[in-house]
Amino acid sequence: MYRAKALNEFQYQVFSTDMRDEAIARLDLESDLLIALERDEFILFYQPILDLNTEHISGFEALLRWPHLQQGLISPARFIPVLEETGLILNMGEWVIQKACHQLKQWQTEFNQPNLKMSINLSRQQFRQQDLPERIAEIIHDVRVDASKVQLEITESMVMKDAQVSHQLMLRLKDLGIRLAIDDFGTGYSSLSYLHRFPTDTLKIDRSFVSRMEKSSEDFEIVQTIITLGQKLNTDLVAEGITTARQHELLRESGCQQGQEYYFYKPLAVDEIAALLAAPCKSGS
Ligand code: C2E
Ligand code: MG
Ligand code: MG
Repeated sequence: MYRAKALNEFQYQVFSTDMRDEAIARLDLESDLLIALERDEFILFYQPILDLNTEHISGFEALLRWPHLQQGLISPARFIPVLEETGLILNMGEWVIQKACHQLKQWQTEFNQPNLKMSINLSRQQFRQQDLPERIAEIIHDVRVDASKVQLEITESMVMKDAQVSHQLMLRLKDLGIRLAIDDFGTGYSSLSYLHRFPTDTLKIDRSFVSRMEKSSEDFEIVQTIITLGQKLNTDLVAEGITTARQHELLRESGCQQGQEYYFYKPLAVDEIAALLAAPCKSGS
């Protein structure tokens, strides 16, 4: 039934033993998740975002991690859908915003870099929360972080689901002075006319295009088209998942200002980032 519901309201699915095994594994995951939440076991990793011209760190993306006793670090791609279905994502999401803002403020102060930015992923359910702007306002006020250095990432599909409602919510979020980014740009369906009206500060070029851009001229053209679009819309551009020096160069020459370089800067723990910020020439605000 859940499989059918996930596909579409009017779908049906035939039960198979694979589905039963999957359902059992999922129940295990769900109960482990509940225990981990109670024990406060989740942590945040941070992936540096670089200025592609200077190669200095301009900010970070906060990425949730679950250190599981048996399975090691579990990727959010596995457990976020479960948190979404159970509704637990709302509390977790708020914890992420609180923690990431606090961390940003601490690094800005400790390393005297007030221009460092923090980018935070929002889940589907969070983006449908009517009082989200008030909740974020409270966090920003309590942490005393500069709102203009906090960026929320939402995907095209989240925004386009109910474009009118999204537009209103985005305007209320922008009133707080924070930044809004469209994550995984190019993989969903955006209406160009909406894109123009949405108060978007950043387009994040999906890593599927970046990873293929050296070998496939089609993907390189898609990347260039997104860059041109960003320039016309007057948004910042961040390329995700850069893994080679050539990709870095091509992106820089094409006018993309920022990127997440997986090869040098995988998502890192707090103390590893602190060591990077303490090293001369790695950051620049
Ligand atoms: P995302 O926001 O698009 O984050 C980028 C993901 O791509 C991260 O995976 C990052 O580690 C990975 N990545 C970046 N460059 C490369 C690369 O070159 N190669 C490879 N193999 N991977 C690369 P991660 O941390 O597993 O996160 C997966 C997704 O989970 C995120 O995609 C985001 O949608 C979601 N997520 C992560 N943290 C949070 C959170 O705190 N809240 C919410 N709502 N979602 C989150
Ligand atoms: Mg993201
Ligand atoms: Mg992304």
